[in-house]
Amino acid sequence: MSHPLDCLVIGGGPAGLTAAIYLARFHLGVTVMDAGHGRALQIPCTHNHAGFPEGISGRELLSRMRSQAIQYGTWIVDRRVEALTRDGSGFAAHGQDVDIKAHSVLLATGVTNRRPPMTDALHAEALSLGRLRYCPVCDGYEVTGQDVAVIGSDAGAANECEFLRSYTARVSLVLDGTDGLAAPLAERLTGLGVRIIGGPAQEFALEEDGLSLSSAAGRLRFDAVYPALGSVVHSGLATALGADVTEDGCVQVDRHQRTSIMRLYAAGDVVIGLDQISHAMGQAGVAATAIRNDLAACRPQLR
Ligand SMILES: Cc1cc2nc3c(=O)[nH]c(=O)nc-3n(C[C@H](O)[C@H](O)[C@H](O)COP(=O)(O)OP(=O)(O)OC[C@H]3O[C@@H](n4cnc5c(N)ncnc54)[C@H](O)[C@@H]3O)c2cc1C
Repeated sequence: MSHPLDCLVIGGGPAGLTAAIYLARFHLGVTVMDAGHGRALQIPCTHNHAGFPEGISGRELLSRMRSQAIQYGTWIVDRRVEALTRDGSGFAAHGQDVDIKAHSVLLATGVTNRRPPMTDALHAEALSLGRLRYCPVCDGYEVTGQDVAVIGSDAGAANECEFLRSYTARVSLVLDGTDGLAAPLAERLTGLGVRIIGGPAQEFALEEDGLSLSSAAGRLRFDAVYPALGSVVHSGLATALGADVTEDGCVQVDRHQRTSIMRLYAAGDVVIGLDQISHAMGQAGVAATAIRNDLAACRPQLR
């Protein structure tokens, strides 16, 4: 493709597809390139996304969003962007068999949660059954009163335990290594009635009524397990261009979702935030409007 697009959206999750719907409805030329392994695709059924009282799977939600974006003229290319470089005042993106030039780029590449040691098949099945969960803000409600474990050894894992205590009195922290937990964290959790169990957590298996694992305390079974092992932020395309990122690797943006690189924008989990569909969509709406207005400032959008 030699004629530059108005905007290339990198990532076809809730953030990228929301932005594409807005941009296409602003009568701008937009293409989404998507590698197709996002977090939203892993959601068996979300119950906190407004407008779906019966819940909706991440796959179905994305399928509807894709149709909506395509209906208004968005092109969707199912390819990973391998490289993004500056091309004059715009950008050039390269993927397998695809090269795209664009006046602006929105990064909506998300993050990937670090997984506990288990096969892909077991991971997928445990997720689909709600035995493995990654987001207490999303689905803590579903484990109300249940016997729940968090896996991890840092302040983030301790915070998840504390958060889950507002849903259930039966919360355990299984350490992910053989090191202990920092004394102030251990004291805080013990005070909340959280059981601290030596790790590492391994040899996971699905049981009829839960997920079991082995630990320093032997074999244990839980109704649900929340890995809190951190995540990999997909901000490499932004850092390669010299964009500012946080200590954790999240892309830094202003209140219009502009990065420190002119005409490069970011939205969704790749930006520090709540890591929720609603927030990703909200950021994307802001980003798309900023992209439209920034392009119009040098080329008025007249029809
Ligand atoms: C198991 C689970 C359950 C969850 N449940 C809920 C819930 O109930 N409610 C809720 O609000 N949130 C939930 N979340 C969180 C929610 O999934 C995320 O906040 C949301 O998906 C973020 O949207 P995003 O578009 O930023 O990222 P993602 O959905 O992760 O999409 C990013 C996309 O970018 C693509 N990509 C990455 N790099 C490239 C590249 N170089 N080139 C092209 N494409 C690329 C990926 O393949 C992916 O398709 C859950 C998450 C998980 C893991």
